[in-house]
Amino acid sequence: MTATAPITQDVLTLPRKLPEGGLINLIGLTRDQVLAALLAAGTPAGQAKMRVRQVWQWVYYWGIRDFAQMTNLAKDYRALLAEHFVVELPEVVTRQVSADGTRKYLVRIAGGHEVEVVYIPETDRGTLCISSQVGCTLTCSFCHTGTQKLVRNLTAGEIVGQVMLARGDLGEWPVKGQPKPDGRLISNVVLMGMGEPLYNFDNVRDAMKVVMDDEGIALGRRRITLSTSGVVPEIARTALEIGCLLAVSFHATTDEVRDQLVPINKKWNIATLLDALRAYPGLSNSERITFEYVMLDGVNDSKDDAHRLVDLLRGIPAKVNLIPFNEWPGAPYKRSSGNRIHAFADIIHNAGYASPIRTPRGEDIMAACGQLKSESQKQRRSAQKASAAE
Ligand code: SAH
Ligand code: SF4
Repeated sequence: MTATAPITQDVLTLPRKLPEGGLINLIGLTRDQVLAALLAAGTPAGQAKMRVRQVWQWVYYWGIRDFAQMTNLAKDYRALLAEHFVVELPEVVTRQVSADGTRKYLVRIAGGHEVEVVYIPETDRGTLCISSQVGCTLTCSFCHTGTQKLVRNLTAGEIVGQVMLARGDLGEWPVKGQPKPDGRLISNVVLMGMGEPLYNFDNVRDAMKVVMDDEGIALGRRRITLSTSGVVPEIARTALEIGCLLAVSFHATTDEVRDQLVPINKKWNIATLLDALRAYPGLSNSERITFEYVMLDGVNDSKDDAHRLVDLLRGIPAKVNLIPFNEWPGAPYKRSSGNRIHAFADIIHNAGYASPIRTPRGEDIMAACGQLKSESQKQRRSAQKASAAE
């Protein structure tokens, strides 16, 4: 018998806690980390690479989480896996379905923290909006998440887990013996939920590598969009190390206004940000940067703003996503009128840039951009009330 080396977190060089019982969660580990883990669990070196492939396919292609069902592995080996590992997803606490079909999941992760995940079905695509942090260290004045202090970064496993649990809920895992359905329910993933993904770069990168892996979920790199508020030093790494598309929360055309709306602008101002975007590796017309622009009544929505934005974009393959402001209780802004938004969009469009106006989705369940947080907090408050009343 092969002596089984004790598995420690050092083996995996991961800043993660062992789940109860000391078992390691395979979700979110890179292939190299899975290899190291399987070797440390006693997999013979000559078989290890093949075992990684087999386990990987069970978990990420078929969505199987019970080792006992991994039928092309010998029974002894399944038992060995079950002795050392688990395949665990974050727990879905609640699932709400909006009148427009949008689904919002409140998800609990280790430590009892909660994040929100939103699925938005459209005619030509299905977009899953995932979170990268619990809360956010930044304090954008129009964003509800920004009013919640950062609690912690999500692990790579918790980020991959959001995609997996949504696939499960939507019934998207393939079933053996049944034909593969055409198209995908989750055709796109956007890192636009809670948190600033570039402040949790390594975990986001590792998670997206897993989601893109050809032998698993196999989502193409151009199906993934990472949205940043403008963490300039990490922007190029997004292209180099992940290869996904980039969106930038731009929201203003002068430093004075952007300082107010997106305070990270005080650190990296508009000119610095635009320099980093111009230098974004692989930038082309087919891989444009999305400029997100939230429409705030009387703050950033004038015709002058639109013309200034066109000037700033010059030379950058870009499209502009206009986001009607989603209000939340106590928000210091109002949504721009439809007329203003359309006038703004026309100026951008006439200058040659696509300027779609994003239709707010899932507003009835507070799932729209920038509204995340409230539900978990509301639930916590009502739970507190309920337990106080007991
Ligand atoms: N932290 C990252 C990603 C999460 S925010 C970022 O800031 O880019 C996702 C998008 O929702 C951003 O463009 C953000 O500016 C926008 N947003 C935040 N609050 C909003 C609100 N109340 N209404 C509309 N969009 C909002
Ligand atoms: Fe954080 Fe993005 Fe919200 Fe700003 S807009 S507070 S960076 S989540």
